[in-house]
Amino acid sequence: MLRIESRMVGPYQMNTIVAWCDETREAVWFDPGAEAESVLRWIQENDLRVTRIVNTHGHVDHIAENSVAKAALNVPLCIHAQDRAKLTDPELNLSHWTGIPVVSPDADEILEEGMQLTCGKLVFELFHVPGHSPGSLVFYAEKNLIAGDTLFYESVGRTDFPDSDTDALFSAIQKKIYSLPDDTIVYPGHGEATTVGHEKLHNPFVRG
Ligand SMILES: [Zn+2]
Ligand SMILES: [Zn+2]
Repeated sequence: MLRIESRMVGPYQMNTIVAWCDETREAVWFDPGAEAESVLRWIQENDLRVTRIVNTHGHVDHIAENSVAKAALNVPLCIHAQDRAKLTDPELNLSHWTGIPVVSPDADEILEEGMQLTCGKLVFELFHVPGHSPGSLVFYAEKNLIAGDTLFYESVGRTDFPDSDTDALFSAIQKKIYSLPDDTIVYPGHGEATTVGHEKLHNPFVRG
């Protein structure tokens, strides 16, 4: 069975997420964006074995402590091909504009829609939901969706970056996220969790 720990961290109030199989205690850590040392302690206290670090996309708030996570765990770092360059380019990952340039380790594995990510007895299905960032991925397993900055509680990811695409985001949410079961719990990159059914009825940007 899938278990999820979502924790709001850092100056951007980003949700870093550890998802694990409670039978094998294997885990995937999504978006080590901040406070990685404290998450690492929590992982150890809970006797989890992280097998992959995954970035939902390459913006600074989601990748800033990849280096800390990778150094401690020495497991593959994974991202979509279209956001890979952001990992090592502070202008592309937007950290350049904050005055504290962030460079992550490069990716070890490239993820894409249609792939399955296994974690113990869990299997995540991957969907490409571009628009906030061209390489945004979401991860679905057992009626839970790790959504990154695509769909938020009654909102959506920003699309005012140079490589954003509002139409692409709205259409990918409609086609790929709203086709999941209504009782799917959505864990977004920022803010509180929601469900697919709630957003189809109440999201002011994309209606189901
Ligand atoms: Zn973002
Ligand atoms: Zn974000």
